[in-house]
This record gives sequence, structure tokens and C-alpha cells, in this order.
Amino acid sequence: MNKENIITINGQEFSFESGETILDVATRNGIYIPTLCYLKRATPTGSCRICVVEVEGAENLVTSCSTPASPGMKIKTDSPRVIEERKTILELLISSGNHNCLIQDLDQQEWTDFQLKSMEIKGHEQICPAYGECRLQDLAIRYRVKPRFRPKESEYPPEENPFFIRDFSRCIVCGRCVQACNEIQVNNAISFGYRGAESKVIAKEDYPLTNSDCVFCGECVQVCPVGALVPKSVITNKVLPNEVKKVRTTCSYCGVGCQIYLHIKDNKVVEVTGVEETAPNYGSLCVKGRFGYEFINHPDRLKKPLIKENGKFREAEWDEALDLVANKLKEIKEKFGPDSIGFLTSARATNEENYIAQKFTRATLGTNNIDHCARL
Ligand code: SF4
Ligand code: SF4
Ligand code: SF4
Repeated sequence: MNKENIITINGQEFSFESGETILDVATRNGIYIPTLCYLKRATPTGSCRICVVEVEGAENLVTSCSTPASPGMKIKTDSPRVIEERKTILELLISSGNHNCLIQDLDQQEWTDFQLKSMEIKGHEQICPAYGECRLQDLAIRYRVKPRFRPKESEYPPEENPFFIRDFSRCIVCGRCVQACNEIQVNNAISFGYRGAESKVIAKEDYPLTNSDCVFCGECVQVCPVGALVPKSVITNKVLPNEVKKVRTTCSYCGVGCQIYLHIKDNKVVEVTGVEETAPNYGSLCVKGRFGYEFINHPDRLKKPLIKENGKFREAEWDEALDLVANKLKEIKEKFGPDSIGFLTSARATNEENYIAQKFTRATLGTNNIDHCARL
């Protein structure tokens, strides 16, 4: 082992690559360090400070997500000082907004009672839509933290757009959404506005998202660690994360092949999220992939082919419709030759569908007249 690239974490030696942070080395070796603001694929900011660790010889605790590993470092990830600091951070965070899943009973003395009380509110009308899938809640439970201060009412009312709700009362100002929008999607639609306790994620001069450069890709919703950004469908359908079945599939809107999870409740898709751990999209999606799923259960959806007769459409069975098209193509080919037929397909179809279309055109129809729209 090259001693120059060795750090010690909790008494064990680990090698590191140049450019790796303490968090990188710890995570790679299965050592847990909690994170909140840290966002893979974006520049670490260390703003929430929950990932602090103790480094021998350093006066202050350091944020592991933004501190590069350096030779000979001796690090403690769970010392009493570290735990105390994390608890204080969590206390401040859960007291900074409407985290009602954790502050139902501020005067409770026993943590167990307090926790049981929190569990009881599961069916509550006002329950936070992130309940059960919220990093802040997870950490508060893990570190057995209850709020020390009574929360301040949020100055900012919730904002609604056609796709998601921005509930500023639950925002912990971690900045993940801002980084996701600016560094990952590069839409540059949001940033931080105001100062101190009034800090808020804003679009332009604090306009609603609908009047900004936002393209509603929902990347910010995907990365929000709490219940501050939630798809509208989750709220209107009153869906809690533990009530859905997640089914992994490929988005069928275009040929990129983004990997998605369909969140299904009562046989209905109630949310779509990107699969974070895999190519080609690593969790990112466009507005159609993320929010364009209402057609699945829409009453106007065409489920059968239509045949036009005497200027009017009538429903038909697939066999009848396919036979009709096949016979017409055959007739045209026999009468005018294969090159009288052209086949137009779409970049908005999957690669597999486009492949089948060209195979059908060349092998079955016998022409090279196959094209599609991906030359915009
Ligand atoms: S955002 Fe998280 S911590 Fe806050 S109320 Fe919702 S579930 Fe609880
Ligand atoms: S939906 Fe997309 S473009 Fe709009 S603020 Fe969120 S990340 Fe930015
Ligand atoms: S909206 Fe969510 S991701 Fe954005 S700053 Fe607030 S808590 Fe963080």
C-alpha cells in the first residue's frame, strides 16, 4: 500500500485516489456518514454541515463532503463531539419549519412516547407527503432528536404549478434543488434569494415558477430530501411513500431510454421518478417522462384502432385494422412499385420501434424510403 495515499477512519487505514473527499472514501468503504445537502454529480457545498467529522489536529469539525482526503489524516466519524454537533444541526433544522411529523408533541418527555405519537399521525389529514421517505425525518429518528425550539411560522405561502407544490414551510434551504437545476439540468431557473432566516429558493426576482425559465423537468423535486417539493398528484391522491409499489421500466416518450420508476397505488400511476443509479439518465427526466403519465388512465385515451368509413371513425379490432393496412399497402406496392411508399417514423418513438419500422420498410415493403424527424 502506498503510505502517501492513506487516511485513517475510525482507527482503520484506507487508501484514497487524488481528488476524493473524506465522504467519498468513507462511503466507498461502507462507513456511514449522514448527508443532507450533498448531491452526487454537483459541487459539494458543505452547507448543511450534517456530515461533519473530527480530524485529528483540526480545531473545528470539518464537513466530510467538501474536505479532500489528504495523506496521514486521522478521522473520527462518530465521536461524541461529532454526534453532539449533528444533533444540534438537526434540532435547528426541524425547528426551522413545519416538520409536524416530528413536533406533534413538543412537551413530551420520553423520546419513545414522542416517537410513538409521531407514528400515530399516519392517517392524519395534514400528514406530510414525504412521511416515511424524508431524510430529515430519518436522521431525527436515527439521532433521537426532538425539537428544542418552537418552530416559526413560514413567511412564504405554498406555491402551486401544474406539476408540483413548493411548500416553503418544509424547506430546509439545503440547496440541492438549486444545484440540480443549475449544475445537472443546467436550466438556471432557480437560486437563493433573501438573507438569513428569510432565505428562500427563488426564480428570477421571486416570481412563480410558471413565470420563470423553469421547464418543469422536476429534477428539483427528485432531489429534495424533505417534503418541500412534492408532485401534485401525490398530494391530490393523498399518497404516502409506503403505500406505493415501485415498478421499474423504460420511458417510452423517446429513444433515449431513460430508466424510470412508476409509483403505483390501487393500480394507478401516481408518480414517476428517475432511476438514480443507472445510465442513461441517472435520475434525470424531462417534463414528459416525469409528469406526462395522466394519459394512462385518462377516459379519452384511445384503446382500440379506428377505421374511417364514409368520413366517420368507427372502433375496430386490431386484426381487422392491421389486415386493412396490410392489404392497402400490398395494393399500392403491386400497382405503383415499392418506391411509391414512404415510411415516416419518429424520434419520439423508442429505438426498438424505430428499428422495427426500418426493418419492415426495407425487408417487407422493399424500399429504402424510411425516415424520421430527428434532424431538427
Ligand atoms: S419534511 Fe420530513 S421532517 Fe418535515 S414534516 Fe415532512 S416528513 Fe417530517
Ligand atoms: S423543474 Fe427543472 S427547471 Fe424547473 S426549477 Fe426544477 S430543476 Fe429547475
Ligand atoms: S426545496 Fe428542497 S431541495 Fe430545495 S432547498 Fe428546500 S429542502 Fe432543499
